[in-house]
Amino acid sequence: MIRINDILDKIIENNPDAELDIIDKAYIYSARVHEGQVRLSGEPYLSHPLEVAGILADMKLDAVSIAAALLHDVIEDTNATTEEIEELFGPEVLHIVSGVTKLSVLKLNDSHARYAESIRKMILAMADDIRVVLIKLADRLHNMRTLQFHKKESKKREIARETVDIYAPIASRLGIYWIKKELEDMSMAYLYPDEYNKIKNYVSKNTKDREDYVKTVIQNIYNLVTKNNLECKVTGRNKGFYSIYKKMIEQNLELEDVYDITAFRVIVNTIPDCYKVLGLIHALWKPIDIKFKDYIARPKPNMYQALHTTVIGPSGERIEIQIRTHGMDKVAKVGIAAHWSYKEGLKVDEKTSNAFAWIQNLVENQKNILDPDEFLDNVRIDLFPDEVYVFSPTGEIKTLAKGATPVDFAYMIHTEVGDQCTGAKVNGHIVPLKYKLQTGDIVEILTLKGHHPSRDWLNFVKTVKARSRIRQWIKVQEMARSISLGREICEKAFRRYKLNFYKIAKSEEMEHIATDLNFKTTEDLIASIGFGKITATQVIGKLIPDTETEEAPPEEIAAHVHKKKTATGILVKGVDDILIKFGKCCQPVPGDPITGYITQGYGVTIHRTNCVNALKMNPERRISVEWSTEIPEAYPVKIVTYSTDRIGSLADLASNISKKNANILNVNTRTEDNGSVTSYFTISVKDINHLESVLSALKRVEGIQDVKRIDR
Ligand code: MN
Repeated sequence: MIRINDILDKIIENNPDAELDIIDKAYIYSARVHEGQVRLSGEPYLSHPLEVAGILADMKLDAVSIAAALLHDVIEDTNATTEEIEELFGPEVLHIVSGVTKLSVLKLNDSHARYAESIRKMILAMADDIRVVLIKLADRLHNMRTLQFHKKESKKREIARETVDIYAPIASRLGIYWIKKELEDMSMAYLYPDEYNKIKNYVSKNTKDREDYVKTVIQNIYNLVTKNNLECKVTGRNKGFYSIYKKMIEQNLELEDVYDITAFRVIVNTIPDCYKVLGLIHALWKPIDIKFKDYIARPKPNMYQALHTTVIGPSGERIEIQIRTHGMDKVAKVGIAAHWSYKEGLKVDEKTSNAFAWIQNLVENQKNILDPDEFLDNVRIDLFPDEVYVFSPTGEIKTLAKGATPVDFAYMIHTEVGDQCTGAKVNGHIVPLKYKLQTGDIVEILTLKGHHPSRDWLNFVKTVKARSRIRQWIKVQEMARSISLGREICEKAFRRYKLNFYKIAKSEEMEHIATDLNFKTTEDLIASIGFGKITATQVIGKLIPDTETEEAPPEEIAAHVHKKKTATGILVKGVDDILIKFGKCCQPVPGDPITGYITQGYGVTIHRTNCVNALKMNPERRISVEWSTEIPEAYPVKIVTYSTDRIGSLADLASNISKKNANILNVNTRTEDNGSVTSYFTISVKDINHLESVLSALKRVEGIQDVKRIDR
């Protein structure tokens, strides 16, 4: 059992000026209030807060943290009161102890909501004072080390499960990898005892061989580096059993096939030395490209830095090597806690508080969300693998869903930045807006005042915020566009009847007409004329009832106008009832990508998106349309066949078309001088798959050289 003097020694070793009084006092107080209490192990209860304080001393935390660690269970488990703690140790210690107590009250059962709630509490505590969570981690570590004294097997597994699901990921997120490893391995022994023993035996059975192997690799690296006049320290450590186990599962490997059980570490003096060593190693052993990670240039969000590489070693096996400086090594060992070293009595420095900005932001943005599931969804910190961390040019960390793009990032900063986003630079290079952000990317958004979002963005944005903002903008835009289009249409139509539209539009009479036609305002009425839902002549008819208004659209268009939207198989976004017709030029059939164009007074014309005529049309009149799922009818489409002249070939073609249940509406055949035959069919089909099946049936007809759909 650790003694208080051991702890004091550790603290003095880290910081000779440390304020030890508060620790002495906390120790004496804790001993008094826990007096007579016994742990399940049979040890006096005091052993627990002492061990927890010892772990924190190893992490080089400040005296206040150590004192709080000694007191972490007194509010929950003894007669101690908050008033007493505050009076004796001050508000800072009380604040931390209360935070730890609040977290302890959380009891996890299997429900997902409880899990989400625990994570939420942890994150709130982190934002409040990270030391609360560090004490909680140390507390859990010691409890896991003594878990064997629990009597109930089910309880042990429950605690182990909670440790793997919540505590280990948090340790990892904070960069305290040794705690993560120990928590995971201890939990695994309870959760997967067979696999645990198998891996443990394997690693220890091979001890002699493995030791020799590890020594050889270390010696090789050491010789290589020192021969090149660099100072270094090389170590080889076995990876955690749980991470070996995870690797087996993820990569579907047998234990014997997991080569890189040992991770080698090269510690050097300076950053340039890191890269020099990397170069030397790569010159000696062939690297596996995709395994190389430069966490020096792009630190992890928890400030971890190192170069990671995997190479093919002397006997063809994979070797994982981490290269870092002594300073980086220290951060890797204690993670975020490194920034409390020697900080006795000092305020947290700016760099450290920047590192916590992500937690701060997170909490700020989530304050009003009461549903823990929703909170969790929104939080998605890297306890969950499907997300990326990127940096703003000023070093601020932003967390985004995996697959997020610069547009998502822009909207995360501010709606205005998103709306006006014209391009993006990632790590100094221009990238397409649909670029998928990677963890560590430094993202700079280029904006232009007056620039607007694009509908295409909806095809690649990942976040809810970006999506809803873009949609909102499009909706407003379409409304504005149809109002101005409606005005233009009215103005022209009114003029034909010698009416002044702009004057009438402001009149009370117009308001009545709007109400008459079931519109709330005159503006809605005009917009709907712009949308093509009603015509300007309908309005004129109301203004001057006796006038004969000519409303007949040209023949060819009328032939394809369907009155009801369900009869066309087309949905126009945001519009319930609109006239739809199909471009004769490109004859869209369901399944084709389509675009709609507002046509003055005659609703919306549907063209295939790549139709040459459509491409020429005014983009101002473009409106988004899609095929409805209930497709009611057959669509005409033109096809052409090229064949050799043969008796009965036309009959063969026709019978194949009807065998596929398509109707022939029209045929034209032309025989060329060289004897080849070109036949033009207009057939009706249900959708694009139907068309494809007809085309492929025709291709199999004897003498047929080619069959095509005609684009225009
Ligand atoms: Mn405890």
